[in-house]
Amino acid sequence: MIPKPMEKLLPPPRLAIVIPCYNEEEALPLSLPVLLKLLDDCVAAGDITADSYILCSNDGSRDRTWALLEEWHLADRRVRAVSLAHNRGHQYALLAGLMTAMDNCDAAVSIDADLQDDPQAIVEMVRKYREGTEIVYGVRSSRKTDTVFKRTTAHAFYSFQKKMGLETVYDHADYRLMSNRALHLLSEYHESNMFLRGIVPQIGLDSDVVYYERASRVAGESKYPLRKMLALSVDGITSFSAQPMRWIFFTGLFILLVTLAVTAYVVVARFFTDHVSPGWASIMLSIWGLGSLILIAIGITGEYIGKIFNEVKGRPRYAIRDRLWD
Ligand code: UDP
Ligand code: MG
Repeated sequence: MIPKPMEKLLPPPRLAIVIPCYNEEEALPLSLPVLLKLLDDCVAAGDITADSYILCSNDGSRDRTWALLEEWHLADRRVRAVSLAHNRGHQYALLAGLMTAMDNCDAAVSIDADLQDDPQAIVEMVRKYREGTEIVYGVRSSRKTDTVFKRTTAHAFYSFQKKMGLETVYDHADYRLMSNRALHLLSEYHESNMFLRGIVPQIGLDSDVVYYERASRVAGESKYPLRKMLALSVDGITSFSAQPMRWIFFTGLFILLVTLAVTAYVVVARFFTDHVSPGWASIMLSIWGLGSLILIAIGITGEYIGKIFNEVKGRPRYAIRDRLWD
């Protein structure tokens, strides 16, 4: 741990607020003024610089989202935007926004367009950033406004991920602040299946959390139907864990043990009782013996595929935090 003097704060950062937007024509007119006001307040309080801005990443919206963003940009240059060629999904829209902001900010906060995540938490995130924290996660203190279904499935998913050996932050979605250095380290991850909630903790810089109450959407409907939620969950597991393949191997080993017991039973039945049909013993032993051998063989092949899986991702092997040079 690098010692840092407690009382010395970093200078106010140039902040980029990055918003992925998919068909948000209803929410943006409500959320942009709130976020611009927040920027004004933070500038007035001396927490961020005056050239801080909002960057909307339009994820191939089919409604008036882009037209609205053009109007807003003309009226207030602090509203900036990029547009993806077509709908690629929340994670990619967010990544495109963060990578666009990377060279033009000291820190970036990602937040949804619907203001479900309390924007006031940004003030505390910036404070923690100025104290030297590189990644600040927004964590929901309660999920009262989520449906019971969304809450239980989300919690089940967190515990499942944990069992799979994936390091994620409980009740944190993609509301977080990342320093410029964290963004550059994130840009070293070249994999195409992006699950930011799994990657960001892997970067491994100093991090902290800020709690907030999750509200309901300001306007419009959720852009995350069950289908997209399931796809994100599958990505979240299969992009990080080769564990399921190892289970096959252990199942094979377990069945091999069972096969020993079955063998004993078959031998006793075959030689010491007289109600065994011809062929039964050999079929029983073949099914159990070959079954376990096949599972073990698939499991071993899986281990190698797991290695290939890790290699092809080409993730950075380490991240350098500081350099003392010259
Ligand atoms: N979003 C996106 N692309 C998509 C789906 C969603 O950019 O394909 C954005 C959306 O505009 C919003 C954020 O991701 O800013 C979160 O979506 P939403 O609020 O609909 O999800 P929920 O809060 O219901 O899980
Ligand atoms: Mg939402």
